[in-house]
Amino acid sequence: MKSAHIPILIFRDILQAMRALITGAAGFLGSHLTDALLADGHTVAGVDNLCTGSLQNLKHLQSEPRFEFHEHDICSPFDFGKVDFVFNFASPASPEDYSRLGIETLEVGSAGTRNALDVAHRYQARFLHASTSECYGDPAVHPQTEDYWGNVNPVGPRSVYDEAKRFSEALVMAYHRYRKVDTRLVRIFNTYGPRLQANDGRVISNFLVQALQGHDLTVYGDGSQTRSFCYVSDEIDGFLRLSRSEEHLPINIGNPNEWTILDCAQAVLRVTGAKSKIVFKSLPVDDPMQRQPDITRARQLLGWEPKVDLETGLKLSLDYFRSSLASLASPAKLALADE
Ligand code: UDP
Repeated sequence: MKSAHIPILIFRDILQAMRALITGAAGFLGSHLTDALLADGHTVAGVDNLCTGSLQNLKHLQSEPRFEFHEHDICSPFDFGKVDFVFNFASPASPEDYSRLGIETLEVGSAGTRNALDVAHRYQARFLHASTSECYGDPAVHPQTEDYWGNVNPVGPRSVYDEAKRFSEALVMAYHRYRKVDTRLVRIFNTYGPRLQANDGRVISNFLVQALQGHDLTVYGDGSQTRSFCYVSDEIDGFLRLSRSEEHLPINIGNPNEWTILDCAQAVLRVTGAKSKIVFKSLPVDDPMQRQPDITRARQLLGWEPKVDLETGLKLSLDYFRSSLASLASPAKLALADE
């Protein structure tokens, strides 16, 4: 009986296995997506210029024969051979990183995304683009449905990211409409978990690092602004489901449980047991006041639903942040947003 089962399993794997290209593979989401695709039996070619990603995120794949890594800036044309699927995840993504790398962010959303689309077009590969809730800007509609066009300041400090991602959505739809590329668009809401860079300035990484170090937690503004935090395993599950679907219009993938930033700080204190104080700093320009995904489309079209609540996800992230503390390059960077 046993020997009769083995060929069936192998046959199924061969039928389903694909070669995927992931841009931004050394990043937080790109590296988790790489792991998920490898676990599903696929082969992955990862590309990253390491401007914000880290090879540390891929270190465990050093001897994985189904994974190859190319250090390359996708803003220059590239071709790493035939692929069946392109996942376009390359971009600085934390407000601190894209403020520091403004021109690079605009370039990767335009020239870089176009080069990735050209690869998909050349090989008739399917394409999934990582877009963002930032397309909604400081939203006047709440929660945000995919048909809301957004409230974005086109010249403010966040515009380098928001407009890059809005342009790339237009580019993806144009390749779909005019060049018949089989595209998908995911609008990603705040996501957290292991491999979020400890010093990238985002709220969950800042709060966890501050709490673990016994420092004050820095809440910007009065902390009444809201975000909805999705644990990384739920987010990746949403990407995979979308990759298998035939949906070309944008889909929100995010956890609809909305938290004020002040409540989030208190949750971090509960989970870590830290006795840190909460201190208030000035609110960055154009910081969205509210953000919550309407995930009706994801539920209906993908059967997707996040499973991990914030406190559970924070607990699951603790070990990673503890071990990254030692390698924090520069604690001064954490203070940047306070200035
Ligand atoms: N924030 C904060 N303290 C921090 C870092 C961020 O209060 O140390 C706030 C920030 O002003 C924003 C929210 O937390 O209102 C989420 O910020 P993040 O940089 O994580 O991502 P965003 O959702 O703004 O892109």
